[in-house]
Amino acid sequence: MEQFSKTLKGIKDRGAAQLFIDGEWRKSSGSNELTVVTPHNEETVLTYFEPTIADVDIAVAAARKAFDTGPWPRMSPPERGVYLKKVSDILMARMPELAEAWTGQVGAVIGFTSKASYQVPGLFKFYGELIDTYPFIEERIGSMGGNKVRVVQEPVGVVAAITPWNAPLVLLVYKVAAALAAGCTMVCKPSPETPIDAHILAEAIAEAGIPAGVFNMLPAGREVGDHLVRHPGIDKISFTGSTAAGKHIAAVATDRLARVSLELGGKSAAMILEDADMDHVLKSLVPYSMPITGQVCFSLTRVLVPKSRKDEIIQAYTGAVSKVKVGDPFQADTGMGPLTMQRQLERVQGYIEKGKAEGAKLALGGGRPADLNRGFFVEPTVFTDVDPSMTIFKEEIFGPVVSFVDYDDEKDMIAKANDTIYGLHGAVYTQDPERGFAVAREYRAGSVTINGMMVDIHMPFGGFKQSGLGRDGGLEGLENYLETKAVYMP
Ligand code: NAD
Repeated sequence: MEQFSKTLKGIKDRGAAQLFIDGEWRKSSGSNELTVVTPHNEETVLTYFEPTIADVDIAVAAARKAFDTGPWPRMSPPERGVYLKKVSDILMARMPELAEAWTGQVGAVIGFTSKASYQVPGLFKFYGELIDTYPFIEERIGSMGGNKVRVVQEPVGVVAAITPWNAPLVLLVYKVAAALAAGCTMVCKPSPETPIDAHILAEAIAEAGIPAGVFNMLPAGREVGDHLVRHPGIDKISFTGSTAAGKHIAAVATDRLARVSLELGGKSAAMILEDADMDHVLKSLVPYSMPITGQVCFSLTRVLVPKSRKDEIIQAYTGAVSKVKVGDPFQADTGMGPLTMQRQLERVQGYIEKGKAEGAKLALGGGRPADLNRGFFVEPTVFTDVDPSMTIFKEEIFGPVVSFVDYDDEKDMIAKANDTIYGLHGAVYTQDPERGFAVAREYRAGSVTINGMMVDIHMPFGGFKQSGLGRDGGLEGLENYLETKAVYMP
């Protein structure tokens, strides 16, 4: 908590100036109070004023000016790369603060956030280095007389980045590092419940000397976000959040053909083949079926088991999960923290009741831990004998609730795994990697891990079907923020 208190003090020292616009900390022009609550003890640790529509207009104007006439898009990519690498170094030195800010606001356990926060400086480093060599200008020979044609990759323009609360900084930085590398300018709207680490990011960007107006940050709710999405000064909306909000945003963006990319919900399948090695299964399935108390888009929440090994696998999994310590996320030996907010607790409890009512068998959990009377805690919960028609199999719960479904043969397994509107991630467990690869090709999702669970920031991440549009991360993440232009040379 020491680092978190230090970060909070730095933010409170700014008084009412909590918005980063045009290179300065500014006050909101409104009076709607927002709070940040630590979910393990329900304490309010920060109060601030929500930005208004007028504040959004000022931020968009600053980003527009920085794009239309400022130096950032006109620098050579390696020049921009120098700034990005500087941001990476500054954030690397503040890693303990990043980890505690994540734990304090979200309830994600410190053992996880201390490691996973590396992605934040890692993304700035990756994109800062990638643009040293990325072919922004490619010379081709035309087919109409052999003239030269320069095919140029240009920044898409002013980007609105809208992100959720579960991994607040990592998800924002996927967008910021790639968009800045491309030469875009930005207005970022982090979730109003988890704004603290975006403050650290704004400080790092200012310290690195990135020109004023290139990066603007206003944590706000839905209405202010809606104004940002509709703003004619925004060329591209890059959104991470629920599928429902993503569909709405895509519809709004389509009206003026603003570019849009979407990272949305998931209901990822763990496909366990008959020859699977239980060591591999337990090592990744136990932590990644319920990471951040199940509040991760790629959580492996649907587990498909062969009928022949059903009892053995369920017993081993529930045995391992029941040993996970639930409690204070700041304690090093805690394996699972609380849910992030009261509305999440109510949502998850609602799904648990639905699972019971629709006839799934409750094999573990289902209630609230008896020894924890403060905080938004819920027990890790496992349902077995789940039928694909049940709500808990179909809908994203976004909590520590896992459904086991059994299958007859591989064809039945793949059909059940694909029986979803989502297509974000999955895992295949088998001793035969090529058989795993063949299953991965049949499963309709943006990424699949064989015998484990990996999401690598150097690789593309995103959804098939209603899990999204476009990719964050990797080379494809940079290309998300580029437009192609053909210049015919004389
Ligand atoms: P949400 O859709 O309610 O909100 C996400 C963000 O969008 C927030 O900043 C919110 O204020 C804003 N927002 C919501 N409606 C808006 C609108 N109409 N116009 C403009 N902004 C709007 O989602 P959430 O509850 O914050 O996050 C959980 C969801 O995010 C889950 O569905 C999860 O799967 C998804 N998610 C996806 C990924 C991914 O990479 N695919 C990663 C993390 C979370």
